[in-house]
This record gives sequence, C-alpha cells and structure tokens, in this order.
Amino acid sequence: MNKILYLVIPCYNEEEVLRDTAAKLKDKMDDMKARHIIAPESRVIFVNDGSMDLTWHIIEKLHQEDKLFGGINLTRNRGHQNALLGGLLTVKDDADMVISLDADLQDDIDVLETMVNKYYEGYDVVYGVRSNRKKDSFFKRSTAQFFYKLTKNLGGELVYNHADFRLMSRRAIEGLAEFGEVNLFLRGIVPLIGYPSTIVEYERKERLAGKSKYPLSKMFGLAVEGITSLSVKPIRIVTFLGTLVFVGSIAMLIYVLVSYFTGHVVAGWASILVSVWVIGGILLISMGIVGEYIGKIYLETKKRPRYIVEQYIKD
Ligand code: UDP
Ligand code: MG
Repeated sequence: MNKILYLVIPCYNEEEVLRDTAAKLKDKMDDMKARHIIAPESRVIFVNDGSMDLTWHIIEKLHQEDKLFGGINLTRNRGHQNALLGGLLTVKDDADMVISLDADLQDDIDVLETMVNKYYEGYDVVYGVRSNRKKDSFFKRSTAQFFYKLTKNLGGELVYNHADFRLMSRRAIEGLAEFGEVNLFLRGIVPLIGYPSTIVEYERKERLAGKSKYPLSKMFGLAVEGITSLSVKPIRIVTFLGTLVFVGSIAMLIYVLVSYFTGHVVAGWASILVSVWVIGGILLISMGIVGEYIGKIYLETKKRPRYIVEQYIKD
C-alpha cells in the first residue's frame, strides 16, 4: 500500500476553472494522503497545451504556493490527446500510478479513490465509465452512440462510454510508450496494451465554467481519427462497393444490349443522370476514404514528435 499517485490534467485555456479545480483536487489528495491510501509524494500535474490565456501563469502560481501541484508546459497547442500523452509519458518515472482527467472536473473525483483501490487489487488499467449520458445534449449523445457502434462493427476495441478518465499503472504507461503512432487515439490504444483491466462507473457532471474545447468539428475529427487508426475495414468496404457496382454494370450492359437489339432505345435521360450521380458520389466517397488512410501514412512516415515539453516543474 501507500504508492505514489499522479493526476495528469490537460489544460487548454482553462483559466476560468483552474483555481477551483485545484482546490477541489487538493482536498481529495490531502484526504487520501491522511488516510495513507496514497504516498505523500503524490502530485497533481497540469499540462498546459499551448493556452492563449493565463493558464500557465496560474499553474506556476499554484506550484509556488503548494508543492502538491506541478506543471508541464508544451511548446504549443497539440490537442487534447497529444497533451495527455505528453503528460503521461513525462511523469511515468515519478509515479506508480497515474489518473488522467479533464480540467473542468466533469469526471467525478469521488471515484479517484475507487480507482486507486482497484490498482491495489492488481489492476493495471481502470477505465472510468459513464453510467449514463443524461447530462449530454441529445445530439452529442446520439452521435457518440453511433460512433461507438460504428467502431465496434469495424473491429475497433473501445470501452463503451469511456472517455479519457482512467487510471494506468506505471508498467501500463511504459507499454503505451511503445506505441509510436503519430495519429493518436488513446481510447483505442489503451485496450491494446493488455494487462488486467477493469471499469469503475461514475456520473459525469456539467462543466464547472468556461466553454467546451470540443466543438463539433473537433469531435468529428476525433471520430475519424479513432476509426481510421483502429481499423482498415472502411477501405475494404470501398473495394466491396466497387465490386458491387461492377456486377451491377454488367447487368446494365446486358440490359442495354437487349434494348438496343429489340429497338427500345432513346429516352432514358433520367436513368443516365441518376447513375452518373450515384456512381460519381460513390467514387468521391471512396477516394476520400482511401485518401484518409494515405494521409495517415504520410503523417506517420514523417515521424514528427507528438509534443515538445518546454518545461516540467515539480518537486
Ligand atoms: N484540451 C486540451 N487541448 C485542446 C482541447 C482541450 O488540452 O486542444 C483539454 C481541456 O482543457 C480539458 C479536456 O481537454 O481539460 C477536455 O476538454 P473539454 O472539457 O473542453 O471537452 P468536453 O468535456 O466538452 O468533451
Ligand atoms: Mg469537459
């Protein structure tokens, strides 16, 4: 017992919530330390993902006031997934276990202790899973549901209703470090690491303050990222569609020849127009899907760093 716990919290323009979040986490951490559930060296590390506001300034202030808080400053905005990965990989040698959560504390911090207990029971990965999505808008809920179903059918392995609220042991993070991909979808990769894992249910709250940093466009990007990094089935579907259309065109050819020789020609404007549009549409979508994968290969071959740490403050 009494292992070192680190909380890793990606922050992008979170000046409005940061102080409040820090105070709440301090209470939780102090309480767990007092009851010897976690070691006194445990820390809360905020990862500043290139914020434009006072986020990093506040993190430095928090660190000066209290050694519980530390910070990692990335050189620029790299997006939530990269910021989270940067945080996990930077702290992994200092911690026995790391829990990742959002700066707005939408994830219930009362289950931190439950997660830690699961770690002591021998689990390397503990997924925080939302017991329901009542708090989400109908739109977010239904698109999310659709996304989970789709990835599952395409062969990706995802934990249902789990975002990035999760505990990972040091060796699980070391496993994660072996995955060199630039196109990062942590939720899909973590299950691939292996090791014993379990889930903990919680109810997700409203954002404390400030606006969501995940507008529809970013959500869509994340979904495409997730699917294309977990599965090549969409490309197969393209091939399958192509075959289907080809078979159809043979039937069409026979029909055209028969009509020609029996004299029922001319007219047919509608059918030609429809087929041109349908086939054109299918072709464009197919090229888009294939292009998405080629783009991915392009990004991967360059092996660019996923993030650059400017500073890691902690003591
Ligand atoms: N975030 C980040 N970089 C970004 C966008 C978001 O580090 O480019 C962080 C953000 O500060 C928050 C977490 O990712 O801690 C989740 O973002 P948010 O709460 O806005 O997403 P939502 O809960 O609405 O899905
Ligand atoms: Mg949020």
